[in-house]
Amino acid sequence: MKRVDAIVVGGGVCGLGAGYFLSESMKVVVLERESQPAYHSSGRSAALYIIGYESPEVSVLTAAGQQFYNNPPEGFDDGPLIKPRGGLTLTEPGMEPRMTSFLDRWHTHCPRLSRITLEEALERVPLLRPEQLAAAAFDPDWYSIDVHRLVMGYRRGILRRGSLLQCSAEVTSVERQGTVWRVAAGDVFEAPLLINAAGAWAAQIGQMAGLGGVPLQPLRRTAVLLPLPEGAGSWPSVNTLADDLYFKPEGNGLMLSPEDETPTEPCDAAPEEIDVARGIDHFERVTTKPVNKILSKWAGLRTFSPDRRPVIGRDPREPSFCWYAGLGGFGVQTSPGLGRLIADCVLGSKQPSSAIDVSRYAGAMQG
Ligand SMILES: Cc1cc2nc3c(=O)[nH]c(=O)nc-3n(C[C@H](O)[C@H](O)[C@H](O)COP(=O)(O)OP(=O)(O)OC[C@H]3O[C@@H](n4cnc5c(N)ncnc54)[C@H](O)[C@@H]3O)c2cc1C
Repeated sequence: MKRVDAIVVGGGVCGLGAGYFLSESMKVVVLERESQPAYHSSGRSAALYIIGYESPEVSVLTAAGQQFYNNPPEGFDDGPLIKPRGGLTLTEPGMEPRMTSFLDRWHTHCPRLSRITLEEALERVPLLRPEQLAAAAFDPDWYSIDVHRLVMGYRRGILRRGSLLQCSAEVTSVERQGTVWRVAAGDVFEAPLLINAAGAWAAQIGQMAGLGGVPLQPLRRTAVLLPLPEGAGSWPSVNTLADDLYFKPEGNGLMLSPEDETPTEPCDAAPEEIDVARGIDHFERVTTKPVNKILSKWAGLRTFSPDRRPVIGRDPREPSFCWYAGLGGFGVQTSPGLGRLIADCVLGSKQPSSAIDVSRYAGAMQG
């Protein structure tokens, strides 16, 4: 039996971030089922940092981590964990009003987002098909995140502070015994606090703890890596307001996604041919570049609550159980901001706003 101050279930960016910030003040163990951290969603993302994404609430949570990303704490890493990429947003003919709504929606959160001419859009990404463009906007404040260095920095910090990251440690039971949680994961761990950061499996961990009923749905998303077209290394990330395509340079390739959202059970997600084909079709619709070769393809799960807001905070039925789940498509970019917030929430100095508090699902919860 190993006793610690807090048990974190899940070694993705969320669990690692929570473990990192909590271990400043307590001894933590992060339990991860796989043999390495960030094997699931956290290792399969597009690694983008976009303030104007999803909702104003997510925007605030994302911005809360910008200082950390630009200037990580001493010993975490040597330099900024994000670098400028820029974001080009397009509408196709017949969808012009969407650009107006998009600009109206984000102008207060994204001060440098502005409409640009179609000629300017083509200068940035010369392979776009002009006849498919109706309007364009550019935001220089989109960044690429170095997820590997983020994960390694969290891991180093957790270990240096005397806390633990236990991989190949699948949590198979969670019981409240008196004032502690007893968690079996090969070894048995005991702690007065438990943080549920199990990604697509978070609802299952809640059920194991007798705290079922928090509605979380994993949605599969596909990614395809193409050879990098000549000169494309400096392209911004490009997305369409039809919500059916984005693409961006990624290492030596060009990553694209058809922005699919297929409901699925928690699993080791794999891409379906139909989604890969759709992504390529959309890419060939918007650009003049035929796709002759695929370097790789993958899929990952983005897990959402019904209102697509994160499920964060102490469970009202058992406050020693803290949720850090429902991070959808923004769990990486919000990780430093939310990791700090979770630590503050658990340590009692701050509560999450009611907008992100798990208690909004009180009606759906059973003990
Ligand atoms: C294609 C794609 C593109 C994306 N692009 C972006 C992006 O550009 N920017 C962004 O911010 N986000 C993006 N996301 C979303 C982001 O990847 C997720 O929000 C984030 O990774 C969620 O992190 P997590 O730690 O909650 O989940 P995960 O990384 O899935 O971690 C949860 C961990 O819990 C572990 N676990 C589960 N059950 C148990 C158990 N019983 N015992 C022990 N361990 C357990 C799992 O093994 C897993 O490693 C993207 C996602 C996808 C799929």
